[in-house]
Amino acid sequence: MNKNIAVIRGDGIGPEIVEQALKVLNKISELYGHTFNYTDADMGGCAIDKHGDPLPESELKKCLDSDSVLLGAVGGDKWNNVPGHMRPEKGLLRLRAGMGVYSNNRPAKIWPQLASASPLKKSIVDKGIDFIIVRELIGGIYFGEHKTVEENGQKNAIDILAYNEEEIERIGRIGFETARKRGKKLCSVEKSNVLDSSRLWKAVMHKLAEEYTDVELSDMLVDNCAMQIVKNPAQFDVVVTENMFGDILSDEASMITGSIGMIPSSSLGKTTCGLYEPIHGSAPDIAGKDIANPIGTILSAAMMLRFSFDMPEEADCIENAVSKLLDDGYRTADIMPSDEKEAAKCKKIGCTECGELILERMAK
Ligand code: NAD
Repeated sequence: MNKNIAVIRGDGIGPEIVEQALKVLNKISELYGHTFNYTDADMGGCAIDKHGDPLPESELKKCLDSDSVLLGAVGGDKWNNVPGHMRPEKGLLRLRAGMGVYSNNRPAKIWPQLASASPLKKSIVDKGIDFIIVRELIGGIYFGEHKTVEENGQKNAIDILAYNEEEIERIGRIGFETARKRGKKLCSVEKSNVLDSSRLWKAVMHKLAEEYTDVELSDMLVDNCAMQIVKNPAQFDVVVTENMFGDILSDEASMITGSIGMIPSSSLGKTTCGLYEPIHGSAPDIAGKDIANPIGTILSAAMMLRFSFDMPEEADCIENAVSKLLDDGYRTADIMPSDEKEAAKCKKIGCTECGELILERMAK
C-alpha cells in the first residue's frame, strides 16, 4: 500500500520522539512492502519562528492533503508571552478543527511489565487498568469565545463553554460504538449539577442509550470521576466526556498507568484521515537530552496503521515489539521503577536507543 503521511515534529522533545516513530514506520514498509511518503509540516513554536504563525494555511493544507498526520508535540517557554491567538497550542487547536477530528481516543492501559511504575497501590493495580477515554475534541470551552474586558477598573476574563445537540450526539455515538466493541460499559462524565451544557450532554446520552440497548450507560460527575480513576480504575471500560474534562482526566489516567510518555492517541472525524499523537506535551525540561520516552509516539504510529490504514497486523507488529522491549527489562528514565531492587533488574535507556531496540524486536 502507498500512503502519504504529514509529519509535524513540533517543539521540545517533538523532533526526537517523532524520529523514532519514523524509523519504526520505515521498518514496517520494509517488512510488509508498503510505501510511506512523508511530508514535513510546521506547526507550533517552530512555525511561529519560521512563518510568524503557529499553523500557516500552507502547512494545514499539507495535513489535509495527506492520508494521516503524525504529530510530536508543540509549545515551550519561549512562546509563553506571545498573544493568545499566536500561541503554539493555537496551531494545534486549528489543526484539530481544520481536520474536523472531533473524536479523541485515549487508551489508559497498564502494561503488566510496568505495574510497579504505577503510583497506585499494588492491590488497586492488580484489579486491572484498561479503559478508553473518548474525548470530544473540537467543541466546548477551548473553542468558545475568549476575551478579557475592563469593567469598573478590573479585568474580567471570559471563556465560553457551549455544546449543541449535534456535537454531543456525534461523540456520544463514538462512545457507544467503542463500548460495543469492548466491555459494553459506557460512563458519561459531566457536571450536570452545575452546568447547562452538561445537562444537555446527559440528556443526549440517555436518548442515544435507547438505540444502544446492549451497552450499559452510567453517569458520573467529573469531580467524582477524578476520584474514582485513582480509587477504583478497574470499574471503567469506556468513558465519554467533553473537551476540557477529557483533557484533564486523560492526563490523570495516563499517570496511573506508569507514565504519560507511554500513552498514544488517535483523533478521527468523518473520514479515515486521522491525527495521531502522544498525549503528553513538548516536555521542555528534558528536550535535547535524548532521554524522552518515544513509546507514546511509536504507539500512536501503530494506531495510525490500525485505524486509518486498516493494517492491523502491522500495528500488532509494533505493539508486540514494544511489549518485548519491556519484557527484556529496558526502561526510559520516566518508567524506571522507584524501588531500588526492582530498578536493579532493569536497564536504563535513552530515546534513540529505545527506538533502535524496538526496531530489533520487530518481525513479521
Ligand atoms: P508535558 O506533558 O510536556 O510534561 C509534563 C511532565 O511529563 C514533564 O516533567 C515532562 O518531562 C514529562 N514528560 C512528558 N512527556 C514525556 C516523555 N515522552 N518522556 C518522558 N517524560 C515526559 O506538559 P507541560 O510541562 O505541562 O507542558 C509543556 C509544554 O507542552 C507547554 O508549552 C504545553 O502547552 C505544551 N503541551 C502541548 C501538548 C501537545 O502538543 N499536544 C499537550 C500538552 C502540553
